[in-house]
Amino acid sequence: MGKPQSQAEMMEKLVSLSKRRGFIFPGSEIYGGLANTWDYGPLGAQLKKNLKDHWWKTFVQQRADMVGIDGGILMNPKIWEASGHVETFHDPLVECKVCHKRFRADHLLSVKGIEPQGVHVSPQIEHRAACPDCDGELTPPRAFNLMFKTFIGPAEDSTDAVYLRPETAQAIFVNFMNVLNTTRKRLPFGIAQIGKAFRNEITPGNFTFRTLEFEQMEVEYFVEPSTWETAFEGWAAFMEVWARTIGIDARRLHRLEVLGDDLAHYSKRTIDFEFDFPFGRSELWGLAYRTDFDLTNHAKHSGERLEYTDASDQSKKFVPHVVEPSLGVDRTMLAVLLSAYDEEALEGGDTRVVLRFTPELAPFKAAVLPLSKKPELAEPSRALYERLLKRFPVDYDETQSIGKRYRRQDEIGTPYCLTFDFDSLIDGAVTVRDRDSMKQERVKIEDLENYLETAL
Ligand code: ATP
Repeated sequence: MGKPQSQAEMMEKLVSLSKRRGFIFPGSEIYGGLANTWDYGPLGAQLKKNLKDHWWKTFVQQRADMVGIDGGILMNPKIWEASGHVETFHDPLVECKVCHKRFRADHLLSVKGIEPQGVHVSPQIEHRAACPDCDGELTPPRAFNLMFKTFIGPAEDSTDAVYLRPETAQAIFVNFMNVLNTTRKRLPFGIAQIGKAFRNEITPGNFTFRTLEFEQMEVEYFVEPSTWETAFEGWAAFMEVWARTIGIDARRLHRLEVLGDDLAHYSKRTIDFEFDFPFGRSELWGLAYRTDFDLTNHAKHSGERLEYTDASDQSKKFVPHVVEPSLGVDRTMLAVLLSAYDEEALEGGDTRVVLRFTPELAPFKAAVLPLSKKPELAEPSRALYERLLKRFPVDYDETQSIGKRYRRQDEIGTPYCLTFDFDSLIDGAVTVRDRDSMKQERVKIEDLENYLETAL
């Protein structure tokens, strides 16, 4: 096994494979595209669904202390005033006076080799940096709000303005009492949500790493205030275990303690889980201690009491504190794809490209391949394919040589190929080929569902 040499080359290969095999397409392509938008193709959509299902199963369904909701993208704009997003959800924008390109000032510092972590991006510091493209002089940084605005109704009037949510978290906070009253959960417990978020990023890019529209999988975990550290450590470990379970390369995953001015306005402590992407080490997920910031502010702005009553002492009422594991679906997919991608040198000088997805994430669990297109093989193969489809996502492929078809399935990460040959008509069995070891064994057709159930 061997990973490709250059990281830039690796990224190019992944982008091209994603397009060629239907994982990820450039958005609005036939109209010349729309910068930094991407559409997930058939395999990408299935992979993404498997990833979200896996997250939901692990973070919600299998935990007695978790429930889920599905909130709206459009919400009362007062929510974003209470949450601090209207006032503080800004990035520092600078523009080159010569070529008029725009950059995020904190990103420029890292381009210039200055470590941005813990560095407050003051106008003085920023003035020392020049345009990375043409070396032109830059404007002083100005705060740029990342929220997309739109309008309800026919008039584009500021009184009708609403925002596309920049994070899924707030739907959870504003429904805290609804969930508490309907589920009777006791502390500590968490509310989870998967959904789209939108940010008008100044410098999107690096494939699907930073986009304007993306999906988040977030948990708001409510605790008794003095216990937040235990919950924080628990979730940090839980996230790392999950990373391994979904096939993220543990050697490329790192914890970064976020310090000082780099902390978000609501956070007292944050760990970024960073991943070694081909373009550098960057944030994959965040884990934040949000204190009682959100519930307290929503209580203030809405006039509602957002409190928890102690189960053993009804007179003890308090605002729970919150620990938030926040994971981006698209960045997770990118890390999964990068971790899974492998080029294996074969005997005879050939190379095969393999996406070594974990079976749970693989878009197809198996592929049915008749050795020949002749009806005597194609017809029973097709029947087998349709039978297996009822239980697993399965592919069917009868074009070109069997060797080429194996390569095609390796390249999209299908764990098993089931070859139906002329002997199958006699012994009622198919050859099952394992994607990773390439070992083959004969399995009775009638046992295939059980075989795959056990193997996957
Ligand atoms: P960054 O510093 O990279 O802008 P952030 O700290 O603002 O990210 P959070 O607000 O913590 O990000 O959002 C939680 C998660 O949502 C991130 O860890 C990431 O996985 C994902 N995410 C955030 N912004 C984007 C984006 N523009 N495109 C894709 N995913 C994103």
